[in-house]
Amino acid sequence: AFDVLVVGGGPAGAAAAVYAARKGIRTGVAAERFGGQVLDTMAIENFISMSYTEGPKLAVALEQHVRDYEVDVMNLQRASKLVPASQPGGLITVELENGASLKARSVILSTGARWRQMNVPGEEQYKNKGVAYCPHCDGPLFKGKRVAVIGGGNSGVEAAIDLAGIVAHVTLVEFDTKLRADEVLQRKLRSLPNVEIIVNGQTTEVLGDGAKVTGLVVKDRASGQSRTIELEGVFVQIGLLPNTEWLKGSVELSPRGEIVIDERGATSVPGVFAAGDATTVPYKQIVIAMGAGSTAALSAFDHLIRTSAP
Ligand code: FAD
Repeated sequence: AFDVLVVGGGPAGAAAAVYAARKGIRTGVAAERFGGQVLDTMAIENFISMSYTEGPKLAVALEQHVRDYEVDVMNLQRASKLVPASQPGGLITVELENGASLKARSVILSTGARWRQMNVPGEEQYKNKGVAYCPHCDGPLFKGKRVAVIGGGNSGVEAAIDLAGIVAHVTLVEFDTKLRADEVLQRKLRSLPNVEIIVNGQTTEVLGDGAKVTGLVVKDRASGQSRTIELEGVFVQIGLLPNTEWLKGSVELSPRGEIVIDERGATSVPGVFAAGDATTVPYKQIVIAMGAGSTAALSAFDHLIRTSAP
């Protein structure tokens, strides 16, 4: 059995594995796809101490750092169920989709999240070529350009306010007949001179020239008429879905499906900790996920020295 079993191999899981292994305890990592969302990222300019790096490069470095230690890395393994220990200090079981099961005295959940997509023509083709999902990450790449934000909930309206300070013009497109963001955010948004708000608008296509985004087609849901907006960027803000479906019924989740953690990364199940985008942590970023993974590993170690195996 492992002392610490990390489920998920993104920035949070990699940091947790390095911190755990450095305590000299038996550490394993089971990940569906080692590297996580970083593998889908191109330019990274906010990984502090590195002015510029690229996702695939950072993903290789994450795995290399973990493999510097005696960590059992189980890549291409998807967890399907968590079974808490039957007695305090007992072994926790993680069942894998391939039928195997892993046992550990403590578990760190770091299965991350995925952005909900519009699923319209052009979105997939122009990902990282104008179609973006993270304003904190990619906003500055559109300095002085025209962008749209899709989604009028809190994240969409926050993104539009944020981007309006950087880019030339923002068009916010909401599917519903009204914005759903908090009133104070809506008021702030309406006060900005370089923002246009479209409600009852359905995005039907992302246009491009083959290399990058050039426009967006939005259909007015009342009249059925479509219009083309010329722009260079599209930020999709219609939801971040935590990869926690497999934990329903075993670990406390928030109404949005995020794993509920305290400031030490502890979940509702003794010996089970969590970190990164899969949790209730307020901001979802690489450096934040790494810090949270380190916190969870130190908490798991603290749990191990306070409980003896029964
Ligand atoms: P993830 O990176 O999502 O990793 C989750 C891990 O869990 C993966 O290994 C996955 O395969 C695995 N997993 C999922 N389900 C299971 C399961 N059931 N069983 C086993 N394993 C499972 N952040 C920045 O700071 N700067 C940026 O410039 C930046 N740009 C981004 C660009 C894009 C296109 C995207 C999508 C995200 C970007 N982010 C950026 C956000 C950043 O990538 C995430 O905040 C970060 O990767 C979260 O790390 P994590 O370890 O919590 O989760």
